Amino acid sequence: MIKAQHLAIIFIIIILPISLVLSNYIQSQIDTITLQTQYNSRLYESTYDAVQAFQINTVNNRYSSISDSKIRDIEASVNTFYNSLSNNINASEIGTEALRPFVPALVYTLYDGYYIYSKYNNVYPENNGDVKDDSEAEDEYGLKPYIYYSGRYRKGNNDFVVNYTLDNAITIYGRFGTEYRTLSGYLINPEQVENIDYAKRTLTYNGIEIKPEILTEYLLFTPRDEDAESGNYQYIVYDGKKVYYDPESTNEDEKYFWYDNYSKTYISIYNTEVLEYARARTSGDRFYSTSAFDYFYEAERFSREVIDLIGTVTQDDAVDAEGNKIEFAYNTGNEPIFNTTVNNNDPLISGSTFNENRMGVIRNSIETNLVAAIANYNSYSGFTYEFALPVFTESDWGKIVNNISVISFLQGIPIGYKYYNNYCIVTNDKNEEVVKKDSIYIVTANEDGTNREYHLPGCTKLVDSEQDRIVEAYSNLSFVRQTVRISEGNYLYFYPQMRKDLSYITGCYECIVNASDTYNLDDIINGRIYHNEEVTGQSGLIYNEDQLEQVRTAYITALARERYDLYQTNIDSMSN
Ligand SMILES: [Zn+2]
Repeated sequence: MIKAQHLAIIFIIIILPISLVLSNYIQSQIDTITLQTQYNSRLYESTYDAVQAFQINTVNNRYSSISDSKIRDIEASVNTFYNSLSNNINASEIGTEALRPFVPALVYTLYDGYYIYSKYNNVYPENNGDVKDDSEAEDEYGLKPYIYYSGRYRKGNNDFVVNYTLDNAITIYGRFGTEYRTLSGYLINPEQVENIDYAKRTLTYNGIEIKPEILTEYLLFTPRDEDAESGNYQYIVYDGKKVYYDPESTNEDEKYFWYDNYSKTYISIYNTEVLEYARARTSGDRFYSTSAFDYFYEAERFSREVIDLIGTVTQDDAVDAEGNKIEFAYNTGNEPIFNTTVNNNDPLISGSTFNENRMGVIRNSIETNLVAAIANYNSYSGFTYEFALPVFTESDWGKIVNNISVISFLQGIPIGYKYYNNYCIVTNDKNEEVVKKDSIYIVTANEDGTNREYHLPGCTKLVDSEQDRIVEAYSNLSFVRQTVRISEGNYLYFYPQMRKDLSYITGCYECIVNASDTYNLDDIINGRIYHNEEVTGQSGLIYNEDQLEQVRTAYITALARERYDLYQTNIDSMSN
């Protein structure tokens, strides 16, 4: 009896207080978690909206005559972020503009560098050239100067910088002995390029035949009357812009046109360079793109030059601005970075030394500059909260160093007993900045071409079966719906990869719609697919070899061509 009473007393004295404290604590935890969840979804939605805005602007600019508008697009996207952040707030204790101070930075990672948007002390020169003194300078939100993904190397008498990109394009500049040099291009394994016939514009790359190809788009034009005109047109890309061929035009001086603001702008006879380039690629009523050939032809020469110049340089030769050695998160040690003829260093393959080092340089640059930008923000924020760069997970870094993305931070909002602190990374997979390895779609068609379907290059159905013909391959942007404004509230839609009088185009049920398992793109590039016996119950090379070669040819040709066609614009932006 006594013992039972003891137990009761113990229960009242000890268990009760603890459970009270516990429930009180849990309640505040739940409030915190609810708030935290709310802020998380607001941050995600706003960042997503910012990426969407950027994506819509760049995809639409593709078909408009305004092209040099990157900064404007980003500033519009920044505004979208803040508007969205305030719109997503309802009945919160924190109001509209009030959330802005809790965003220490926004980052836009692009093809060859990135912008950090933050508040900083903008000391700018007056018109007469005098610099304002500190008391006059204002703390302003704005885009800080563009930062390239660059790494500096010092070896022997050479001291140079390499600007990296999201793919295998690089620019090298600096001092080599007593000479200053700049060179730019795509780094590949030059030994894989063989049988070059410049007159015919043919070569073989890693066993596949690269030759002139015919590219087609379906276009819809703003109607002069009620009926919208449309048609299938062959095209090439010159200076970053599509040039279409109009075989039905009866005027000999009006055979080629740009598709500007949804109508034909015939290229005038005074644009001699464009016309010469186009005429040299016209034969009969066929218009041939040589971009895939040009890509490998130029990349082969560039790569040999790079190997001669810096073939022995390794990560151990990397130094910072002060000349101190750098440690990288992706460590490639003393493996030669730029000698692409050695084992495991084909820059097109994910795990290559070149690619690992590339990712290391980009990560290092973003991390260093972001730590500084956010730490600086403390002097402008007016809060006692200590803003700092959160630790990104490995998979987050993997996304950042390989994608166009927006990174946002929201920190220092009091929730319960602690402060909210989170970040959000949203990548942009459809843009005019980069042709990633997975940005190519492959088109198949049935016998009469009435049924067209597009696939991811690693689609298992595509590689394993031979039901439909592989007809062409394009960048994923050619599969984005385009909108033509007829009048206020009246719009027409089309897809560049549908065909007039033939077909609509649909995404493959297996790979696009269901996003089922696909083969590794590195395996497609290498032309060997290794089945995992535990997964498939089969081992070794068990696939339709002919079909794989067709997929591989279409894929590598399109990847090279789309990169070459985009590169011209990127080169322009690099030299600006
Ligand atoms: Zn498919």
